[in-house]
Amino acid sequence: MEVHNVELVMSAVAPSQYPTTGFPEIALSGRSNVGKSSLINVLINRNSYARTSSQPGKTQTLNFYKVEEQLYFVDVPGYGYAKVSKKDREKFGQMIETYLTNRSTLRGVIILVDARHAPTQDDVAMYDWMRYYKMPLLVVATKSDKIARGKWNKQESLIKKALHFQASDDFIAFSAKTKDGKDAVWQWIEAHTVG
Ligand code: GDP
Repeated sequence: MEVHNVELVMSAVAPSQYPTTGFPEIALSGRSNVGKSSLINVLINRNSYARTSSQPGKTQTLNFYKVEEQLYFVDVPGYGYAKVSKKDREKFGQMIETYLTNRSTLRGVIILVDARHAPTQDDVAMYDWMRYYKMPLLVVATKSDKIARGKWNKQESLIKKALHFQASDDFIAFSAKTKDGKDAVWQWIEAHTVG
């Protein structure tokens, strides 16, 4: 999709604040610093639209970005900050769970993992959790420019093994730097939101 218009329409903490236009939604989730803002910015052709590296301790919100009067990207707050208290973790869990279980317009979830490393425990837990809701899932391995192309297959196998990746889900290596994988990610999004 060639994107010209994007608008952050809502930072929501409760369902009463979710948009009511009925456009399909794709949620994006990953631990802090994985490259989620960078992925969103590449997808919408902006340099710094989605905020980067949200701070721990800040209000954790679901950010709804309206793309071309067609769909929403829902930026789920980053997880995995060691410093976040147990209480905040629970609040985060409840907010996501409320969203996932009640949102009929949600069409799929993109889970981001760092292409260079084995998924963290938090990544594995997030993947398991999303699978439980039987949502179409795309795992995007970010920062692929930081590993040699010849090692991509090996890393993909390693990541999939650690996640207990299901063959029915999808996997794409992506780089915000080279834009490798951008078209493939858009294809996945369009396949799950158009029509
Ligand atoms: P977020 O916290 O998940 O939103 O992560 P950001 O998008 O803010 O990225 C965290 C850091 O990783 C920043 O310094 C980015 O410049 C860097 N980064 C993100 N994506 C890539 C990528 O594809 N390649 C490289 N080399 N660096 C990246």
